[in-house]
Amino acid sequence: MNQTTIKKSIGTTGVGLHTGVTVALNLKPASEDTGYIFVRTDLDNFEIPASVEYISYCSYATTLMRKGVVLSTCEHLLSALRGSGVDNCFIEIDNIELPIMDGSSENFIELIEKAGVIEQDAPRRSLRVLKSVEVVEGDRKMSIAPSEKFEIDCVIDFKHPFINRQCLNYVAENGSFRRQIASARTFGFTQEIEMLRKANLALGGSLENAIVLTPEGMLNEAPLRFDDEFVRHKILDIIGDLALLGMPVQGKVVAEKSGHSVHAQLMTKLLKTEGAWEIVST
Ligand SMILES: [Zn+2]
Repeated sequence: MNQTTIKKSIGTTGVGLHTGVTVALNLKPASEDTGYIFVRTDLDNFEIPASVEYISYCSYATTLMRKGVVLSTCEHLLSALRGSGVDNCFIEIDNIELPIMDGSSENFIELIEKAGVIEQDAPRRSLRVLKSVEVVEGDRKMSIAPSEKFEIDCVIDFKHPFINRQCLNYVAENGSFRRQIASARTFGFTQEIEMLRKANLALGGSLENAIVLTPEGMLNEAPLRFDDEFVRHKILDIIGDLALLGMPVQGKVVAEKSGHSVHAQLMTKLLKTEGAWEIVST
């Protein structure tokens, strides 16, 4: 299997979930071994590679920073690129935050499909896990272990009648991301949203781009896209965050009540653990 990129440039516009700013997004083809590189077109095309080393902050979203230049909420787009099997892409944006679109990766997948995906000349490389690595933070836990495939076992647990405990096993294989994960939307709780707004976050949030949960139900009138849309979105986030490893992963992830910061800690620990991984051509 060789590396891939998109066939032609394609763009869209949207609003940043946390900053509320309008942003134009352009995806552009990139040569072999480029990986994903964000380009701030409003700042002289300053480049921020999608890489673990540039993770700066991750509580409500994953934010990258290089030399003081920030790029926020990158996980849903990276999830779409990884989930579509695109290896190399320039991601141009003219503001600080990626557009949230409908809160899932669906619009990004449609963009990528519209542009088309082409195979390149160099073989695809993967990061193959050789040894189990685990991080624990209170009742949050995440591990990655050797496996022939890329697989995620995910458990979430929220005291809410629509969620409670949801578990799902995801195996990356042809079309599974598109079918099972891509359209799962982000979600928030009304109490939490008030808090976020006070902290100047979630300014672009609306019922158009998130599931908003009240203590007993939800504000959105349209039904959930899946009964377990919440755990599916968590898997979407994990795939997007793990894309910061710079190549597809061959290993099994087990995540229990994980979040962006736990994902970041696991990646850092994995990369630092001697003999825990190797790069292979696939
Ligand atoms: Zn998310």
